Amino acid sequence: MTTTGTQQPGRVLVIDDNEAVQSDFRKVLSAAQGSSSFSASKAALFGDASSTADPAPQFEVDAASQGEEGVKKVQAAIGAGHPYQVAFVDMRMPPGWDGLTTIRHLWEADPSVQVVICTAFSDVSLQDIAKNFRHTHQLLILKKPFDPAEVQQLAAALSAKHAAHVAAELQVSQLEALVERRTEEIQQAMLHDRLTGLPNRTLFSTRLEACIARRKRHPELRFAVLFLDFDRFKLVNDSLGHEVGDALLVQIADRLRSSLRTCDLVGKPNSAARFGGDEFVVLLEDLAQERDAARVARRLLDALTLPFEVDGHTLYLGCSIGVATSDREYERPADIIRDADTAMYRAKAEGRGRYVMFDRAMHAEVLDRLSLEVGLREAVREDAVDLHYQPIVQVGAGITGFEALARWNRPDHGMVPAARLIGVAEETGLIHTLSWNLLRRACAQLADWRQKFPQFVDLTMNVNLSRRLLIDPELASRVRAACAGTGVLPSHLVLEVTEGAVLDNESDAVRVLRELRQMGVQLYLDDFGTGYSSLSCLHQLPLTGLKVDRAFLSELTVKPAQRALLEAIVQIARAFGLRVVAEGVEAQEQLELVSALGIELIQGYLLGAPCDTQSAVAFLEGDAGARAP
Ligand code: C2E
Ligand code: CA
Ligand code: CA
Repeated sequence: MTTTGTQQPGRVLVIDDNEAVQSDFRKVLSAAQGSSSFSASKAALFGDASSTADPAPQFEVDAASQGEEGVKKVQAAIGAGHPYQVAFVDMRMPPGWDGLTTIRHLWEADPSVQVVICTAFSDVSLQDIAKNFRHTHQLLILKKPFDPAEVQQLAAALSAKHAAHVAAELQVSQLEALVERRTEEIQQAMLHDRLTGLPNRTLFSTRLEACIARRKRHPELRFAVLFLDFDRFKLVNDSLGHEVGDALLVQIADRLRSSLRTCDLVGKPNSAARFGGDEFVVLLEDLAQERDAARVARRLLDALTLPFEVDGHTLYLGCSIGVATSDREYERPADIIRDADTAMYRAKAEGRGRYVMFDRAMHAEVLDRLSLEVGLREAVREDAVDLHYQPIVQVGAGITGFEALARWNRPDHGMVPAARLIGVAEETGLIHTLSWNLLRRACAQLADWRQKFPQFVDLTMNVNLSRRLLIDPELASRVRAACAGTGVLPSHLVLEVTEGAVLDNESDAVRVLRELRQMGVQLYLDDFGTGYSSLSCLHQLPLTGLKVDRAFLSELTVKPAQRALLEAIVQIARAFGLRVVAEGVEAQEQLELVSALGIELIQGYLLGAPCDTQSAVAFLEGDAGARAP
């Protein structure tokens, strides 16, 4: 910034056709040094008592006799980077432009130059100026004849004003630059993950979109998306805390970065991104061939299975990777990401620590799954999912109840396996509506049968409870409403839960199961023997009984060890006061074995497969006949 009078003298331009006037200005402004009149007037003007001893500012004075010549000088000064601060302009300069025209041109050349109109006549007024110029704050009128002190004051004050103006403009431009920089920083933050500094989903998708677009123009370009999932991250996070979890994520990101740097089989930089949680994705651009993606996946797996040292802990994570490549001609980033995700799930299902390439068959499955979802949504809305009933029989006594099993005869497709139906319902959230409908229907059916067959005094209805319902805050009230609405006693309703469902969210599950039990509802642990079969489960949960899984029974006849295990289970169940149902009894031999072990309750094809209402009624009638004295 230039400050007038200190480092560099201020520049003043006098435009006047009278050379005598020009030299007067020169005398007054350049010989002003030490002028006591100036110092005094400056002090008066700025109220600065200490400045009386200051030398008066010296100006570099140039002159022009005509307006056009003056404007040229202003332009040249701008070009030289040393502009005039103040121009004194005569009002009348025949034969050229008059003062006002000259000023207009001056400002075109240099909008910040301060101007003083010098006139001997009263022919220029503030009104004239206001009419001619929009910005009059840079314009002052000086009446002839001049007082030298007045000229000095004007020059000094206006050059100071000019300097302030220039400084303000500089500040504005600095501010603008700052805003621009901050905006860039914010954009950077919006496009990157704060924790690891990796690109986030938004930036990743943008890059992927560019990749897809490039391939349209250059079909020979190949790329791939790798979707990574860490097997035990949640465990680490839950057991060692978020800080360790965060530090681990940062290390994963670093390892990804450095492994990708060494995967130099491709020209373009590969980029990793974090989608949140422990979801990482990698974009491999410009692959020579699609199968190079598999090589990168292999290397990443190798790098990521090495242990991590975090906060004094040695952590083994294990990773599964799904790969989708450009050979499927993707249109949208979301599609290829989804397919890589699907392949990742497959990798996990196939035993973790591996990568899986998305393929045609998986694509067909995805489509299938989508249409199943659409169909199920409609079926739930129209209440088109049915119940079948499988009898549960007490050895030597007959039917004690039925298990209600969901059945969906999908239009144009046939029966959908119940496990698949429930799986899709769980994943889509349809499970809630579906389950409440089925629960109510099962209760209504039980009420109907109990009324028609009063001789079955203990007849119960078993209903399966999805893991999702265990964390549904409406569970207890829905169960209560289903019983109340159909007139079923809660003690005639049996809810079956799997061990896994309980372990998923143990504290919530235990609380809600206690509530149900207090209501009088019976609770059975389903599929016992397949999962963790933790014995602690048995005494922590308010159970009525357990159902030994069919897989257990199928091996019973061939493996003596299974028999010993089952024997132990029955004894423990007895010790806890639990009843035992043997599921999937298909053969007489199995029936005899389980009976010999003291299991009285049997369910299986041997005694009756799941069937519709009509057949179930036939069962009841037959059994009732057998009971008749
Ligand atoms: P689950 O609760 O273990 O049900 C027993 C399954 O074993 C039923 O299969 C039944 O048809 C089958 N089964 C019964 N006896 C035999 C036998 O002797 N041999 C053989 N091989 N199988 C037998 P389903 O109906 O296909 O149901 C499969 C699973 O789907 C059920 O297993 C249950 O977990 C779930 N599920 C079914 N209906 C519902 C429902 O309404 N809600 C919920 N949440 N889950 C349900
Ligand atoms: Ca069951
Ligand atoms: Ca079962």
